[in-house]
Amino acid sequence: MVLHPVPAFDDNYIWLLHDGQRAVVVDPGQAEGVLAYLQTHQLRLDSILITHHHGDHTGGVAVLRERTGASVLGPMREALPEPVHRVCGGDVLDLLGRRFEVIDVPGHTAGHVAFFAPDVDGSPLLFCGDTLFSGGCGRLFEGSPAQMFDSLCRLAELPDETRVCCAHEYTLSNLRFALAVEPDNAALAAYQTHCQALRARNLPTLPGSIGLEKQINPFLRSRVAAVVRSAQAHAPGTAGDALSVFTTLREWKNQFR
Ligand SMILES: [Zn+2]
Ligand SMILES: [Zn+2]
Repeated sequence: MVLHPVPAFDDNYIWLLHDGQRAVVVDPGQAEGVLAYLQTHQLRLDSILITHHHGDHTGGVAVLRERTGASVLGPMREALPEPVHRVCGGDVLDLLGRRFEVIDVPGHTAGHVAFFAPDVDGSPLLFCGDTLFSGGCGRLFEGSPAQMFDSLCRLAELPDETRVCCAHEYTLSNLRFALAVEPDNAALAAYQTHCQALRARNLPTLPGSIGLEKQINPFLRSRVAAVVRSAQAHAPGTAGDALSVFTTLREWKNQFR
């Protein structure tokens, strides 16, 4: 199986997975790049997966469906370009002969879902839209901090080797914030150097892994003593529990420049 990020807009990735004949795409905000890739590699588009309703994730769906006849799968409770086969947490899908599980991850939007494949060529794969980013997490447009925190905890429980396919190249700016929170995290500093080298060559920093994110992503580290201290130094009065620390981090990041 081939996993390829089709770049779109300024910093979106439309993830495309194919077996040499059939393809699946995730969150096609634009059709052009996907159509060109399908054409070049002589692929038939089988399915379009949607994680949430935002236009930069759905803008290309109607054209792709019309041009390819692909079926569209998206979250239960969000406004999407119909017709959509609706899915929700716990659903199991068969895509390109692989098992995919739907995980509910509300927070960025109210009905956001992620798609998890336990075994694609021997390792797991996660399409998480705008919920988990490398070094960061999505903004809370529709959900509460508690919902987003629960959603991230669910993703953090996936196997460490899970490849994490996020929908945006936000890594370097996320890492600047992460280092403000944890200046002494050596793994984080090393990862920043690695990602800067990739971006200097215009290469994606993604996919990362769940194991890596647990070492460097402050939003998955709100139980770590150094992160708790940092959140409390930024916003005195922040309680020491993981959700309170997470909530402070999310607000801090909103203002961070
Ligand atoms: Zn979004
Ligand atoms: Zn987005």
